[in-house]
Amino acid sequence: MIYLDNAATTRMSPEAAGAMIPFLTEQYGNPSSVYQLARKSREAIRRSRECISKMLGAAPEEIIFTSGGTESDNWALTAAFEACKEKGNHIITSRIEHPAVLRTCEYLERVRGARITWLDVDACGRIDPAQAEAAICPETILLSVMFANNEVGTLQPVAELGAMARGRGILFHTDAVQAFGHLPISVDELGIDMLSASGHKFHGPKGCGFLYLRKGSGIGALLHGGGQEFNRRAGTENVPGIVAMGVAAEQAAEAMEERIASETALRDYFAERVLQEIPDVSCNGHPKLRLPNNISCTFHGLSAESILIMLDLQGICASGGSACSSGSIDPSHVMLAMGRPREEAFGTVRFTISHETTREELDRTIETLKMIVGRLRKNLPGVER
Ligand code: PLP
Repeated sequence: MIYLDNAATTRMSPEAAGAMIPFLTEQYGNPSSVYQLARKSREAIRRSRECISKMLGAAPEEIIFTSGGTESDNWALTAAFEACKEKGNHIITSRIEHPAVLRTCEYLERVRGARITWLDVDACGRIDPAQAEAAICPETILLSVMFANNEVGTLQPVAELGAMARGRGILFHTDAVQAFGHLPISVDELGIDMLSASGHKFHGPKGCGFLYLRKGSGIGALLHGGGQEFNRRAGTENVPGIVAMGVAAEQAAEAMEERIASETALRDYFAERVLQEIPDVSCNGHPKLRLPNNISCTFHGLSAESILIMLDLQGICASGGSACSSGSIDPSHVMLAMGRPREEAFGTVRFTISHETTREELDRTIETLKMIVGRLRKNLPGVER
């Protein structure tokens, strides 16, 4: 198998998986209890929190463990809306956010009376900070823009947005699910008030993530109950998950420079070969300001679905740009926002590598793609959809 879908999820590192085992077996103490067994769990959570907070240049108590990116995004947006309702109801976000942000904004609009400004993106998938600034009004309470797009890999001008939000007295949230553990992030330098991340996107476990919440941002609790997570998210902690995520984060921090360099080289090698050796292909997203691990390709006149099925038959895992929900396939909202026609959105395949990906795997994928595209174009001329 060749796994090129690391934006969907990553293989847990053996060290992270190994670190979970004691907390699933003999070290099962509830971190809130008083005896030694419990203290071990408490200490393990503390270490994980400290490691993650260091990576962001944050204080440990600003890291609140959650069940993942979706929960962190939902919490950040709804709690910011609640905390700032005296000031206003206006939220600014972008059209290319992950559904965890898009659907939460729609909910706040439909049910809670929020007013949402949806920022456009250019052909590379970047928002224009000037458009964001022009949208700010006295009722604006929150700016939420993702750090890096999960479909096309484009990085957003987070530092400019953070500085602007700070200057205008509004909260700034960033969904960094695709970026944390892959790129260096300093919440102070970037003016970030809230940041969402997810363990399974950086070789940690599924069902475990965190929300960075700047001290003094006035954000209320997500879950009420026991006093866990500084009274912000009650419930007995997911100790094995938190421990494993901490180990994966530590490994990511230690190897970050090396991984960025090797992934960037492989990414560029793959993109160049695809563009040179397969006719009628284009690459999406920003050519330079992009995640080191993402290559998004549009195979003109073909459907991503057919390509993905044929890749799968050859043991290669990749993703389409389309979201498949309740039996209907919608074209990617990201590609449409970038001004691409529906046919191109339907013909887009995302390949996302990791530090574990080898050049040989990419060579085999390119040869397989050449064969697949050749066959599809011969049998099915024109647009399939
Ligand atoms: N935000 C982005 C940008 C993502 O890519 C994802 C997952 O694909 C999420 C949020 C949701 O994260 P989780 O799977 O941890 O809920």
